[in-house]
Amino acid sequence: MTQVTVKELAQVVATPVERLLQQMREAGLPHTSAEQVVTDVEKQALLAHLKSSHGAKAEEPRKITLQRKTTSTLRVAGSKTISVEVRKKKTFVKRSPEEIEAEQKREAEERRAEEEAVRLKAEAEARERAEAEARRQAEAVKSGADASLVAAVTAEPVIAEVPVVDAAAERKKEEVRRQEKARSDEDERRDRKHAQHRPSLKEKEKAPAPRVAPRSTDEESDGFRRGGRGGKAKLKKRNQHGFQNPTGPIVREVAIGETITVSELAQQMAVKGAEIVKFMFKMGTPVTINQVLDQETAQLVAEEFGHKVKLVSDNALEEQLAESLKFEGESFHRAPVVTVMGHVDHGKTSLLDYIRRAKVASGEAGGITQHIGAYHVETDRGMVTFLDTPGHAAFTQMRARGAKATDIVILVVAADDGVMPQTQEAVQHAKAAGVPIVVAVNKMDKPEANPDNIKNGLAALDVIPEEWGGDAPFVPVSAKAGTGIDELLEAVLLQAEVLELKATPSAPGRGVVVESRLDKGRGPVATVLVQDGTLRQGDMVLVGVNYGRVRAMLDENGKSIKEAGPSIPVEILGLDGTPDAGDEMMVVADEKKAREVALFRQGKFREVKLARAHAGKLENIFETMGQEEKKTLNIVLKSDVRGSLEALQGSLSGLGNDEVQVRVVGGGVGGITESDANLALASNAVLFGFNVRADAGARKIVEAEGLDMRYYNVIYDIIEDVKKALTGMLGSDVRENILGIAEVRDVFRSPKFGAVAGCMVVEGVVYRNRPIRVLREDVVIFEGELESLRRFKDDVAEVRNGMECGIGVKSYNDVKVGDKIEVFEKVQVARSL
Ligand code: GDP
Repeated sequence: MTQVTVKELAQVVATPVERLLQQMREAGLPHTSAEQVVTDVEKQALLAHLKSSHGAKAEEPRKITLQRKTTSTLRVAGSKTISVEVRKKKTFVKRSPEEIEAEQKREAEERRAEEEAVRLKAEAEARERAEAEARRQAEAVKSGADASLVAAVTAEPVIAEVPVVDAAAERKKEEVRRQEKARSDEDERRDRKHAQHRPSLKEKEKAPAPRVAPRSTDEESDGFRRGGRGGKAKLKKRNQHGFQNPTGPIVREVAIGETITVSELAQQMAVKGAEIVKFMFKMGTPVTINQVLDQETAQLVAEEFGHKVKLVSDNALEEQLAESLKFEGESFHRAPVVTVMGHVDHGKTSLLDYIRRAKVASGEAGGITQHIGAYHVETDRGMVTFLDTPGHAAFTQMRARGAKATDIVILVVAADDGVMPQTQEAVQHAKAAGVPIVVAVNKMDKPEANPDNIKNGLAALDVIPEEWGGDAPFVPVSAKAGTGIDELLEAVLLQAEVLELKATPSAPGRGVVVESRLDKGRGPVATVLVQDGTLRQGDMVLVGVNYGRVRAMLDENGKSIKEAGPSIPVEILGLDGTPDAGDEMMVVADEKKAREVALFRQGKFREVKLARAHAGKLENIFETMGQEEKKTLNIVLKSDVRGSLEALQGSLSGLGNDEVQVRVVGGGVGGITESDANLALASNAVLFGFNVRADAGARKIVEAEGLDMRYYNVIYDIIEDVKKALTGMLGSDVRENILGIAEVRDVFRSPKFGAVAGCMVVEGVVYRNRPIRVLREDVVIFEGELESLRRFKDDVAEVRNGMECGIGVKSYNDVKVGDKIEVFEKVQVARSL
């Protein structure tokens, strides 16, 4: 688009029409209305004016230099996270608000001007390149015989223009011709259209109208096609117009990621989407403009159109995003996020409700109508945020998705009951996640309460009370009477101090989804825990595979709020779908980026699932843990009775050697539950059920995530399977077999092969295509491969014992009589425990 109206230009540069008109007037241009056409000359005049008017700068304000260290976690390959520590120095410049505003405006304008300049430069370059190409073409064809040589060195599609009789070239030629025709038709149409708007046609001719990419008029492309016959003459003729149009297709670098839509591909190749659709149709694959092509197909199309293809790595988009989200600012202490876990009926809900009722800063009593799955409380010593979702779901689901939302676990144990299966499970989950535990010994109001029993029970699970020299605080409480709650919160805050939790409130918001639902009236509603930075109403957010602008934000009391800082849970409205618990939320700069990544993730979703399904299988687990020092097979083991569980745990843990080991990350008596499945998912473990089955919830996760779950009723079978898996993890040894030996009896010099050894095969068989070693007095002096193997004058694949042959060895010319040439093969031998 080289000729636009003022209105269109205003849109392009994102400036109000009035302002643009004003700027144009200042630049001395005659435009007065939005409908008038702006030529390129005029655009340049405007550009020059804008540039010159931004010359003067305000004097340098005061500077502050800060040094910062930020730590963040980067999510890679599904559920793995790496923490990244960035130390940087940053200079802040203090300015008044007016200055900042003026600065921003100026920057925006400068950016626009720069973009325009870059575009103009690119166009000029494109013209130049095309011109050079045409000249080369003309010369190439003129010198007749050299044509094919030129074709060979020209990596660009113009080779199709060289008269080489070749079916493929012919086809390509046809294709280029067709494209050009389409382009020039299109050009002509546009030209006609524009002519109607333009004040004078003459002006157009004078204007150095630079055109985008491979556009050319019919006439020009004709000249180009005829190459040597008319190329030069035509060139000359065109020169008379005082400007040059591209004469050959411009080779662009087309970046293709994992997937790309037809329209995106078209945009990158600067052709109309319809052309690709047409092309694909001809190839027998009907597609639509919005259809997503896989990388291979897109590459084929781009190459067929004569462009260079740059394959973008799987995660380039995500990496780019992570890069763009880097932020430095002062970090402050943030409130701990707590999950309450424990056995059913031990008082989790009662405890959460009590704290909520007693502590949540809600104006009116009973104002809590909506249960949002997370809330925060203010205490004298600081704030604590609770994730309040049923069961252990909040914790395990999120962890299974690689999100670490919880800083501290409150383990509720009823003093009248003791350590129960889910207590144990909670301990396993917390330990697997490396989250400190604060034990709430509940129901202390009951006469039969026996806190010592609980201390003993938990100590057996390696949760050692502080007073016994361990690191787990045990706080006696009563969720019913409300006693001990302050002490419990205090203990939590004390643990938090040790953890040194930090966040940077000035950064763009980042967080994690606690839960989400589809509300009939309000659409998708997601409860998000802000973990770092500040989330504001109006922010564009990317949440898992969803995105959207935060239309409204509500706190835990259903009150509308404008912003939420670190460790604050909020409900957000405005997403395009309901994300999953554990999905990461981040504020991104613009909708385009958000949509791009969301779409990419949606496409990726299936693959990730498949990849995970692959990685989670017992046979494949070892593949995923190449770098670890000692490879570990993680197992979640559920059994019908304690006896068999202990027997199995004992024998499984005993398997392995100093390279591989088994770790039972979770185990217990009873059926396989959702929580077990999540634990297996989070720790990349296989699920074993011994005489027990999985419930529906667990099966759903196993299926959705492609976990490996196996049922057994014979202990021996489990042990055999695990042994096999461990053997697989050991990998294999490479062993060498000597296949044949040939003795050098004579050395010939051949102009073609260099030194050729006349040999006698004295052992086994000498093969042409196997690696060899040369031995001189039984010492290896060379290792490589054969260049040639001949018997008499014939090339042969192998020569047997007792026969003579001629052997040429690649890059080894110092063969001597008496050397031995040893032919060998490498075989992989599986290792066993
Ligand atoms: P959850 O299943 O862990 O969420 O347990 P609940 O909070 O639903 O509590 C189960 C039962 O224990 C309820 O009947 C509660 O009233 C009761 N309960 C909870 N905490 C206490 C407590 O501190 N003292 C007494 N006496 N009962 C309690």
